[in-house]
Amino acid sequence: MTWQLDVDAQRCIGSGVCAGMAPDFFVLGDEDRARPLAGRLEPDEVVLDAADSCPAAAITVTEGGREIGPRP
Ligand code: SF4
Repeated sequence: MTWQLDVDAQRCIGSGVCAGMAPDFFVLGDEDRARPLAGRLEPDEVVLDAADSCPAAAITVTEGGREIGPRP
């Protein structure tokens, strides 16, 4: 099942952690806010690692409508 990846631009502080950890999935865009390179993706653990590591809790990963990242 594919995952859905979202970055809340209101929460993102532009730390660049996600783009550094998972450059295939995140890019820093306008005004130093991260955005996903693709909203839908094949499951990849590094995306969850990035969501866990975001200092602003701005990254959400969902699978079939269920939030799976960041992990508790
Ligand atoms: S790790 Fe979080 S705060 Fe840092 S750029 Fe990515 S989404 Fe923004």
